[in-house]
Amino acid sequence: MNFKHLSDQQIHAIDQAHVWHPYSSLSQPLPTYHVTSASGVRLQLADGRALIDGMSSWWCAIHGYNHPQLNAAVSAQLGKMSHVMFGGIIHEPAAQLAQRLVDITPEPLNKVFFSDSGSVSVEIAMKMALQFWQAKGQAKKSRLLTLRKGYHGDTFAAMSVCDPDTGMHHLFNKVLQQQIFSESPRCRFDEEWQPHYLADFEGQLSRHKDEIAAVILEPIVQGAGGMCFYSPEYLKGVRALCDEHDVLLIADEIATGFGRTGKLFACEWAGISPDILCVGKALTGGYMSLAATLCNDRVSDGISESEAGVFMHGPTFMANPLACAVANASIELLLASPWQDNIARIEAQLKEQLEPCKALSSVADVRVLGAIGVVEMHDFVDVAALQKQFVEAGVWIRPFAKLVYIMPAYIIGEADLQSLTSAVVGVLADGAR
Ligand SMILES: *Cc1c(COP(=O)(O)O)cnc(C)c1O
Repeated sequence: MNFKHLSDQQIHAIDQAHVWHPYSSLSQPLPTYHVTSASGVRLQLADGRALIDGMSSWWCAIHGYNHPQLNAAVSAQLGKMSHVMFGGIIHEPAAQLAQRLVDITPEPLNKVFFSDSGSVSVEIAMKMALQFWQAKGQAKKSRLLTLRKGYHGDTFAAMSVCDPDTGMHHLFNKVLQQQIFSESPRCRFDEEWQPHYLADFEGQLSRHKDEIAAVILEPIVQGAGGMCFYSPEYLKGVRALCDEHDVLLIADEIATGFGRTGKLFACEWAGISPDILCVGKALTGGYMSLAATLCNDRVSDGISESEAGVFMHGPTFMANPLACAVANASIELLLASPWQDNIARIEAQLKEQLEPCKALSSVADVRVLGAIGVVEMHDFVDVAALQKQFVEAGVWIRPFAKLVYIMPAYIIGEADLQSLTSAVVGVLADGAR
């Protein structure tokens, strides 16, 4: 085999024979599409077609693909060093990024732990909470309280706080820690708030407070667990109850961070600060895998006074300079852009153009927040069949479960966004016929 140039056919063959995809079967693989390059909001397919991207590669590529400023940041860093261990070593890309994250995240998050992926940053957040209470002599505070329909990643501790029904609990029951679940927030984002919406959460928290180290949740938007948007009042209430019952609050902003909901961080909708914050995904503008867990001084001081004396974590690729350099460039690019206007423009267009879906009998709900547009169906969708129709319509939209959703790059233009929404309306209307 000439590895210098694999044909489209060879690439498909190798993939089918040897390669896992997310949540995939190797005996009954779903169709795959061969992408050769990507630029702006377009994915170039090997067969010559170009697709308008509606996914931002799962929340990540907020500036679009192949961005000259992000490319330049990677190249410049590559010429200095792509990686160096972080044990005992400091470098400018990490220092810049730490300062930036401290500056732009809610006060008083003050300390930064870098890691390689979102799931790992969640593991780190949970470990921080546990070590904190051990240090306080309250080691029995070792469980997590979380919300149904949540998603926090695929590693074991992260899985234990994912939705117990749609998550992977049944497969790994014997090894997953038994966490405490409250009902998914019932008060939608712009619905009128009523205190009873917090009753279940408050009940669980006060009943179990002596064994709860922390509450972990996705602020405002529950992502992969159902794409639900809930009231900022709920989040405010959670913060107050955590304070009242002396339980830490972990906000997982891996999906919502860096502007997606219309605020830089979704916690800002409620004007609250968590004790521990996870960011990832869009952190590098979709260029490389990087995540960070931030915490306030109370948590970091507590851990440092613990029996261990140190925080017990240290990934090999911690604070990878290439990833930090492109994260710095991505944040700079974001803050220098009119991102609030972009998100508001995308939100208005999504609201207007997804509206016709409401008339389809197959559609249960249509909702939009920031640059996230969701059409929830009554039934599970045939992912492969829908995906094929979307590709034929010239767009890249990948549904899951009962959800067809788009979350484009913030730079997407009106016409391209119109192509995405038209494809959603058209394909779903076709399916209804
Ligand atoms: C994607 C995601 C994760 C996991 O991140 P990975 O980088 O895939 O490990 C965790 N929490 C939320 C809210 C996410 O959206």
